[in-house]
Amino acid sequence: MNNLVITKLGEVHCSTETYDMFCIQVGTSTKPYVKRICLAAGIHGDEPAGVEAMLTFLENFHEYAALLEGIEVIILPCDNPFGYERNIRSNADGLDLNQQFQDSNRTPEILMIKKAIGQRSFDMSLDFHEDVESEGFYLWERKFPTPLFPPVDGGMKGGSIGDAVIQKMAQEYPIERKSQIEGFPNRQGVIFLDKRPLEKGWTLEHYLFQNGTKYCLTLETPVNMPLQKRVEMHLFALKTSLQLLRFQK
Ligand SMILES: [Zn+2]
Repeated sequence: MNNLVITKLGEVHCSTETYDMFCIQVGTSTKPYVKRICLAAGIHGDEPAGVEAMLTFLENFHEYAALLEGIEVIILPCDNPFGYERNIRSNADGLDLNQQFQDSNRTPEILMIKKAIGQRSFDMSLDFHEDVESEGFYLWERKFPTPLFPPVDGGMKGGSIGDAVIQKMAQEYPIERKSQIEGFPNRQGVIFLDKRPLEKGWTLEHYLFQNGTKYCLTLETPVNMPLQKRVEMHLFALKTSLQLLRFQK
């Protein structure tokens, strides 16, 4: 693996334990990088497939080397280590960390994530989540006035990057197609975030969007499927997203 840098961002303390938090930066030999992406997982501690997917990705990085040529990747592999260890959604203070990005300057995990992101904006971000109620894969997409993406292996004429990911995923995996998810219209596995209210607080996705990230996807796997299958789904979505990103000049 080329150019792998592991940075300890800091520590999360609770009454009995201390957890380190890390950021991993990987890139192939091409410089300057032409694209930059951010991968994040585990902000909800009871959604382990994303964390497992990041570890599997790093262990098998050679499989992705061609896809990543010229792309710098910032990985936040486990954004809520306290919750992950206990299989609970929140951190040690009972906070849903994915609602704390607007103005939280006290929550250690948020400060460390913001430190890792720094002043960067990304061409694409993927935040890996899971859903206990869904029967299939789906994603949230920040709707940009984006150029159309080409269809992947046939399928409907170009749509958003989220549409293209779902088309490709549907060839291999079940897609969640119920008409609404959390009260939002689900367009065959894609929920656009342009009108999502933020009264609960900014998500990581929204923070990255505000920092100028072009394509923000939040991926959801169905918890009722085996963990290994959910990890596969996340990695398949990652590969597909990278392929699509490479189409973009
Ligand atoms: Zn989640």
